[in-house]
Formats: sequence, C-alpha cells, structure tokens
Amino acid sequence: MTIALIIPDRKLDDLQQRLSAALPGVTIEVWPELNDPAAVTFAVVWKHPAGCLQQLPNLKALQSYGAGVDSILADPELPLVPLARVVDPALTESMLRYLAGIESYYRLRLDQFHRQQQQAQWKPKSPRQLRKLCVLGLGELGAAAAQFFQMQGYQVTGWARRPQQLSGVTCYAGVDGLAAALNDADLVICLLPLTSATEDLLNKQLFALMKAGVILVNVARGALLVEADLLAALDSGQVQAACLDVFRQEPLAATHPFWSHPSILVTPHISAVTRVDTVVAQIAENYRRSEAGLALLNQIDRQQGY
Ligand code: NAP
Repeated sequence: MTIALIIPDRKLDDLQQRLSAALPGVTIEVWPELNDPAAVTFAVVWKHPAGCLQQLPNLKALQSYGAGVDSILADPELPLVPLARVVDPALTESMLRYLAGIESYYRLRLDQFHRQQQQAQWKPKSPRQLRKLCVLGLGELGAAAAQFFQMQGYQVTGWARRPQQLSGVTCYAGVDGLAAALNDADLVICLLPLTSATEDLLNKQLFALMKAGVILVNVARGALLVEADLLAALDSGQVQAACLDVFRQEPLAATHPFWSHPSILVTPHISAVTRVDTVVAQIAENYRRSEAGLALLNQIDRQQGY
C-alpha cells in the first residue's frame, strides 16, 4: 500500500515525514520516483502534469493538496476515482487575516498614500467610507468572509449557486440573483471556484452591474477574471482599485501590465496557503476511508466542478 505525493516543484520532505508518522506501515513516495506504481492506491496531487495518473493502475482515490480542484479536473485523462479537497480552519483563518488586511489597506487609503509617497506629496485624507460589501461564493471561505465583515459592521450581501442562509448576510443565488448581490457594494470579494460556469465571470458586463468606483478583490482563481476588461474598467473609473492574489498565468510574467498599474495591488497567491502541519490529519483520514471503502471527507462533485 503506497501513497504517492504528486506535487511538482515543491519540497515534500516534511509532508512525507508527517504522513509516515500518521500512517505507520504505509509507504509514502514522491512522484516521479515511485518504486512500484501498481502499489499506489491513493495520491495527493497539486498541479500535476496531465496524464501522469494513468501510470497508477490501482488508484482508488485522489486528494487535492489545496482547497481548489480546478487544476486537477483540467486533466483530460483524470481517472474516475473520488476526489477530495482540503477544508481546514487554518486555511480559513489565513484567508480572513488577508482579507482583513486588504480591507484596512483600502479603508485607510494606503493605496493612495503609497502613490503620493512616490511623488513626495503630503495630502492628508480621511478614510474611505466603505459600508457595503459583496462576497461572490459562500462556501467554506466565502461564508466565513461574509460573516467576518458583517461582524465588522458592513452591510454584506453574498452570492452562491444555490440559496443559502447566513445570519446577518443577505444571500442571493443563481445568475438571476447576481445583479442584486452586487448592487451598491463598495467592495466585492471573489471567492468562487473556477469551473466552466465561473470562468471569465469577472468581465465588463459584470463590472457594469457594480457601483461606479467599486473596489474588487480576487482571491479565487485568475481565470475568473477577464484581464483586459479589468484594465478598461480601471481606466474608466468603473472599478476604482483591484487587489489580485491569483492570475491566469502564475507566476505573473515580468512584463504583465498588472505589475505597474497604479490601481492594482498584486500579491503572489499567498492569501491562504495549505499548511502541512494542519492538513496531514485529514489526508491520513481520507486514506483510511478510501482503503475501507468509505466516502471521503470533503469530496467534490465532479459534475459541478467543485
Ligand atoms: P467551496 O466551499 O467549494 O465554495 C464555493 C462557493 O461558490 C459555494 O458557495 C458555491 O455555491 C459557489 N459557487 C460555485 N459555483 C457557482 C456558480 N456557478 N454560481 C454561483 N455560485 C457558485 O469553496 P471554498 O473552499 O470557499 O474556496 C473557494 C475558492 O477559493 C477555491 O475553489 C479556490 O479556487 C479559492 N482559493 C484560493 C486560495 C488562495 O490562496 N488565493 C486559497 C484557497 C482557496 P453553493 O454554496 O450553492 O454550492
């Protein structure tokens, strides 16, 4: 019985050691150095090369090493086995800390003062009056963000695929609910998964539904955003500023216009990064479940893509 760790370009010693300690008697190997591919029944994957899972004829289950599964489902040769993802309070806490920092950054006008500093301009201004906030996606992360900002005194709307109930948050569902969810929001935070239904959703039609001068935060996936539409919306002032943690191509190319845009804050996909110490228990539990023929924790719906 072997677990394969298929997470290219990452040091995996710590994960390998912790999983070995959590699962005595189970062999943990790092792809592509697998002694016996036929012995692998469970694989932990993140941005794996498409097709490589075909080398594992006895695979029973897959575990994403992150909260998203879009890069895994993009593999046209993905085996038809159950796929689970990470759901971790430590990940949620990390996302909330990031979003709290970003909200303060804009409320305190640190973006403007940073630009003024570059011109040696001394121009005091009172904080931005941000009152309404919309969260697109009300799953593990989006629901936590919506409730966090509601507790901070924001009027919060949220948008999901199916009707949701969240205390203190006005929830809308489906394509028909999108305009109402966005209506009048000063800040829009995107926490949707990347699926065929959400790709390119953050486009000029959507920006036109938003309040003029909205601030956009995309911490979901880069392919939700039509980059040229954002640049045009920033030029016109429809979008006042954007904070982007995720990009169509990562790392962001050195020549990309986002780097030098005065109204864009770029962070290198760090808002919520999987922590080895906190995820090992759920990976080990899913391995045990898979071997016992039980349903996995946090299994995704392949049909819906999340
Ligand atoms: P989740 O629990 O699966 O929640 C997804 C939410 O999006 C659900 O509320 C779902 O609606 C909604 N949704 C899905 N498709 C929709 C559609 N077509 N229209 C409207 N709503 C739709 O996901 P999560 O754990 O909160 O994570 C969200 C995403 O954040 C991940 O997929 C990942 O891409 C991203 N992420 C980024 C980072 C980072 O470091 N930047 C870290 C972690 C995660 P229902 O409630 O109706 O199902």
